This record gives sequence, C-alpha cells and structure tokens, in this order.
Amino acid sequence: MVLFITGRCSRKCWYCPLAKERKGNDMIFANEREIHSPDEAIDEARLMSALGTSITGGEPLLVLERVRAYATALKETFSPSHHIHLYTALAPDSPTLLSLRGLVDEIRFHPPPEEWPAILNSAFLEAVTTAKQLGFSAGFEVPGLKGVNLLEPALPLLDFLNINELEWGELSADEMRSRGLELIDGLHNAVRYSAKWSQPLRHHRQVHFCPSRFKDSVQLRERLKRIARNTARSFDEVTDDGTIVYGVIEGAGPKEKHTLDLGPGDYEECGDQIELSWHTLKRKSQKIKGRKYIIERYPPRGIVVELTPL
Ligand code: SF4
Repeated sequence: MVLFITGRCSRKCWYCPLAKERKGNDMIFANEREIHSPDEAIDEARLMSALGTSITGGEPLLVLERVRAYATALKETFSPSHHIHLYTALAPDSPTLLSLRGLVDEIRFHPPPEEWPAILNSAFLEAVTTAKQLGFSAGFEVPGLKGVNLLEPALPLLDFLNINELEWGELSADEMRSRGLELIDGLHNAVRYSAKWSQPLRHHRQVHFCPSRFKDSVQLRERLKRIARNTARSFDEVTDDGTIVYGVIEGAGPKEKHTLDLGPGDYEECGDQIELSWHTLKRKSQKIKGRKYIIERYPPRGIVVELTPL
C-alpha cells in the first residue's frame, strides 16, 4: 500500500512529481483514497491484502508523530513482518532515526541533486550510515536526472540506490521545458534520456532502475487485481487488468429471477436492479425483458470502463 502521509514539504525540487491536489496540502491518502485515521489505512491495506506499506509525501518527517502512529497501527494489526519503508528528502539525526526503530524497516533517502557532486561529505551519507548502524536497511532513491552517475562513490556505503525514470509532471512541465527536456514519445510519461543517464550505474548490484511505464502500469494493475480479488462476489469475473465484469438487469422482479433460475450467491439485488454473472445473463437475455447490459468497471464499484447493452 502507498501511504501518502502529507503533501507538505520544505524542499522545492524543480522536478517534483506531485499532483496539484496534493502538493503543499496536509492531506493523507491510502493508495488513491483520502483518509483521516490509521483505522482507515488498515481498511485499505486489508482490501488489497497489502504485504507492506510505502510511506511517502511530501516530506513524511515533517509529520513524524503521524508517521509513528500509522506505522504502529499497521505493525500491530498485521504483525511486525508487515514491511514498511519510508521516503525522506531530509537527513535526520540519530534521535529522529531512533524514534522510528521497530516501526520502519527501510529508509529511502532522497539527496537533492545539489548534494550529488560532494555526496561523500553530505549529511545524507551520514544519515544513511547512522540508519544502517541502527539496524535499518538504508539507501538512496532519486530521480534519473542528468548527473545521477555522480552518486557512484557512495554506492559501497548504500544498501541500494533506486533510480526512478524521470517523469513529466503536471506542475513541473514548465521547468522541464525550460531545461530543454521533452517526453520520450506521445504515449509515455517518461522524459527522454532519463534511462540513458542512469545507464553507467546499472551494472552495480545495489542499483535498481524503475522505468516509468512499470510504475504506471504494472504496479497499478497488481494493486487493482488484489483489490478486485478481495472484493469480487462469487459471480463477478476478475480480468487480467484488475477490473470486474458482471451482468445487470434493470427493473427486474421475481419473474426475471425465476426465468434465470438464480440460487443464493448467484446474484445480488441493488435497488431495482439484479446483478449476476455476465455469462448467465448473455445466455438467457432473450427470455428477459427490460434493460440488460454487461458492465466492466474498476473495483470496488469504481469507474466504468465499458458498458455493453444486450
Ligand atoms: S522532496 Fe519530494 S515532495 Fe518535496 S519537493 Fe522534492 S520531489 Fe517534491
């Protein structure tokens, strides 16, 4: 689960990928849902059978007590093995790191590019070293900017270096254009050459490159599939894209139920409509009056992808 713990941040990175609705706003989201309490985060984690949580922002350490409260609730509910990693663009001191011990398993530091030329002397390297001594898994997570190879001297001291392919952002578009950057093509959100700039580092075992299309499609699809599987009724079909397909009869009554020969668990009544297996509806639709259709939508009862009248 992605737990966006606040949109506040003290940095002003020109490449910031945050969306307008989130940037600078002290809001909390569990995946795409706005929440207001640890209990709601737990509900969302249950819905998708989350094995772990990624705490992001904004800058999570600006709301340290909130991070601690949510991480405590998640660990207590799902067990200490529920893996939690925390993103931060600050270089916290020992007391701050100590306050997260036992609640967070991994810390992903984001040193800003101004620090990269002298990374060995930066406060970020000190923070990573302290974090490792305190038992955290610790490394860097940065965007694939030109000059990312300057981080190479730090590699022997890091557990990992995650490089995210640079993405064109709603709020960063002007900054990107003013730097002569452009999209890789008309279909993807990745910035041209970002993958190339990280190429010289990719043979190191600590380096993981995350292509923009992976984040866009694979991670989202996997999350949707888990939610779909956990919320599907016995007659819903879960697709490979993580959507749900079922049949609908509007204005249906006892006559239709009798004609379709539906047993318990074969259907659900929602107001004046019956929802059932789309296969059953398609097979018997000639015998049924009223408006009938097959619907494909995102779970749980989310956006409609397609509606096919019968
Ligand atoms: S540290 Fe992260 S959230 Fe803050 S401005 Fe930079 S990219 Fe945006």
